[in-house]
Amino acid sequence: MKYIPDPLDTAGIKGVDLTSGDGLVQWCYPIYATFVGNYPEQLLVICVKTRECPTCPDPHNDLGNADGVRPPHELDKILDAFDAISQGPTVFAQACKEAWVKHIQHPFWEDLPFVNIYQSIAPDILHQLSQGVIKHLIAWLRTICGDAEIDAQCCHLPPHHKIWIFMNVISYLT
Ligand SMILES: [Zn+2]
Repeated sequence: MKYIPDPLDTAGIKGVDLTSGDGLVQWCYPIYATFVGNYPEQLLVICVKTRECPTCPDPHNDLGNADGVRPPHELDKILDAFDAISQGPTVFAQACKEAWVKHIQHPFWEDLPFVNIYQSIAPDILHQLSQGVIKHLIAWLRTICGDAEIDAQCCHLPPHHKIWIFMNVISYLT
């Protein structure tokens, strides 16, 4: 994985000509900005243990209890823990334990310019939003309103040229 984004190491600092969608060639500084993957893939990339939050250091028992946006994992502290491999396996293991990360010697993103992988994690839309929130929201609405009422309400949506109105919404969802 370290091989694929390797050109960003110099291009992100020195710049490179890139052609934009309208055909113009522009001088750009491409950086690794976003990781898109499901939760297990996120954990692999950020070196955090299972059941922990991919972006912040809150313990898994406190997830969902925090007010507002939590600060991300401390990147410098984690990179220092990975660098401790040069001091031997015992020091390395202890440093990783204190930083609350897995024993990974060189994650692919460690040398990329301007990268904070803990701020680069995109939400897992399929599992967190579609199969998580939306699935439960629809189940709650079916319990509260009933299938016939949901279908009736959707049938009365005003027509719009960019919206397809399903006459039997529940049959499409189940
Ligand atoms: Zn969090």
